[in-house]
Amino acid sequence: MQELIEELYHRYLPIREGKLADYIPELAKANPDSFGISLVTAQGQCYEVGDCGRKFTIQSISKPFVYGIALEDFGREEVLRRVGVEPTGDAFNSIIRLDEASKRPYNPMVNAGAIATSNLIAGASPADRLNRLMAVFAAYVGHEVNPDMAVFLSERSTGHRNRAIAHLMLNFRMIGPNVDEILDLYFQQCSLLVTSSDLAWMAATLANGGVNPGSGVRALPRQYVRDLLSVMFTCGLYDFSGEWAYRVGLPAKSGVGGGMLAVAPGRLGIGVYSPLLDERGTSVRAIRVCQELSSRLGLHVFDQTESILSESGS
Ligand code: GLN
Repeated sequence: MQELIEELYHRYLPIREGKLADYIPELAKANPDSFGISLVTAQGQCYEVGDCGRKFTIQSISKPFVYGIALEDFGREEVLRRVGVEPTGDAFNSIIRLDEASKRPYNPMVNAGAIATSNLIAGASPADRLNRLMAVFAAYVGHEVNPDMAVFLSERSTGHRNRAIAHLMLNFRMIGPNVDEILDLYFQQCSLLVTSSDLAWMAATLANGGVNPGSGVRALPRQYVRDLLSVMFTCGLYDFSGEWAYRVGLPAKSGVGGGMLAVAPGRLGIGVYSPLLDERGTSVRAIRVCQELSSRLGLHVFDQTESILSESGS
């Protein structure tokens, strides 16, 4: 495993395709050469290469984990009433796609659905809700996580598109009148600082049924693991989700900070950091690494079909 990720690191390090996100001005300060690959098995064995301790903001990779909190705090039916689970085939920041009849956002991975989901974290005050969020993320990664204040402020002062999305949802009464509080929480969750190693532990926790395999701490009730992985599988890479499912076959999530994680259920978690992004806002090197790990390790979730049939004797 260690040799394999070192081989991939050296193969993909020379790639210079893609560019840094700059619509959040602070993100343009990242080092384009940074590259880290981390793997953590569902038993808690860790393999790493490159800049695995380099911190970056989690951005959209926070979305499925906040969806998990919403499920835990409000239950499946109430969450489904507020946010759908249907892929859009659109970009992450698409503004127009609220379901015509229900006015629900299509899914919790696009920004509209993610902002509506941030509104579903239980707590009596904004501080309570932020503390709840940070405690859950700490359980996933195995140590405390904190927001990057500069990135938070940068997005808060320039995130007009997200503000417009939130106000559109307020217009349809899909979120409450405390729009600024909801957006602050969304921008805070996006600005949490993580490493590729942290992402691999988060993915391994999902691969291990919701329990962090290093600490033994449960981060998500078992019954919601499948909900979270299902929306990551069908919607995690926005308008690239179908091709990703076809080629790589793993629930995965990308973020414009340059991180990406992928989950091989029951087997392992992958975390990659490289901030050069393609036109969809996904790390170019991370896509290559996940694609190759999936094919070299036979991780595609539907690769099992043959062995299951032969075991049952048909
Ligand atoms: N905070 C970013 C935004 O809302 C997250 C986008 C992403 O990582 N795809 O625009």
